[in-house]
Amino acid sequence: MAFENIVGQEAVVARLRMAIGRDRLPSGMIFHGLDGVGKRTTALELARSLNCDGDDPQMACPACVRIERGSHPDVQFLAPEGQFIKVDQIEPLVARALFRPFEGRKRIYIVDRAECIREETASRLLKTLEEPPLFTHFVLLTASLPSVLPTIRSRCGLYYFAELASEAIEHILVDRLGHPPAEARRRAERCGGSIGRALALDELDFSRYDETAAWLDQALLHSDATPAELVSQLLKVGAKGKVDVDDILDRIDIMTEILHGGMVGRRRLPTGLSGPDEAFNFFLRLMQARAMVAGNVAPDMVLEETILHWNKEPLRKWTETFVRPFLWV
Ligand SMILES: [Zn+2]
Repeated sequence: MAFENIVGQEAVVARLRMAIGRDRLPSGMIFHGLDGVGKRTTALELARSLNCDGDDPQMACPACVRIERGSHPDVQFLAPEGQFIKVDQIEPLVARALFRPFEGRKRIYIVDRAECIREETASRLLKTLEEPPLFTHFVLLTASLPSVLPTIRSRCGLYYFAELASEAIEHILVDRLGHPPAEARRRAERCGGSIGRALALDELDFSRYDETAAWLDQALLHSDATPAELVSQLLKVGAKGKVDVDDILDRIDIMTEILHGGMVGRRRLPTGLSGPDEAFNFFLRLMQARAMVAGNVAPDMVLEETILHWNKEPLRKWTETFVRPFLWV
């Protein structure tokens, strides 16, 4: 059965299977979600399921093998050349879209980083999406759906790829990629739900993460240390005696990831927090702090304020209603 290799994206797979079964697969699809959660693999699997030479549970027929190798004439990848996807990259695909596939049943174009399609290029693509050709499907991949042009968005079927649960990541690492279980758990816990990131983590990332997590525990435990002392433990001072802003932004990102992971049950919450509501409140404070640090407000001041006041008063209700839905909590 197709899509059997896809881990942790049951909702998307169910929708794709149903659409294929009813012969109602949209000619334009957008796969969106964090990098490293299976968008490209699923697009490839879709291409295979549409072109497989018959009853082939292992997906090992000549067509499937060629798709896997990237040498099937009807399955093509496209990624931005430089900053954007150019008109002359998309034009040949659009022209070919009208004709029958060379050897498969369906032609699949997989376009990576669809947010890099500008108006000029989009106008060529839109005609095709508006009058869907019988044999061609475009699968657009993006980690940032809001940055994809609305004209494209509105003409495509949208498929959201959720962050993977740690169990799913552990399963892939251990059973597919042969990692030792303890190592796999360590990666799964720290990767924010992305298998791509789980694989890319190195020892330096691990130690930064653990250091920051330990610091966060301490900061939230109302320990004897004053906020100023806590902050100075976290701030790394660079060569010219200046605080390293990029380092601080990175640490804040790790903290928000820890809190988010705790809120969605991917990892334990920091010890000093009573539950998801407190975690969410602190999460919002950190996002505020991040924006201020990025906007050049002194990091030590911002962090001290954040630690001092994070649980004084919950942020206003509208922030909660406005921000929370986007966190998939
Ligand atoms: Zn096959």
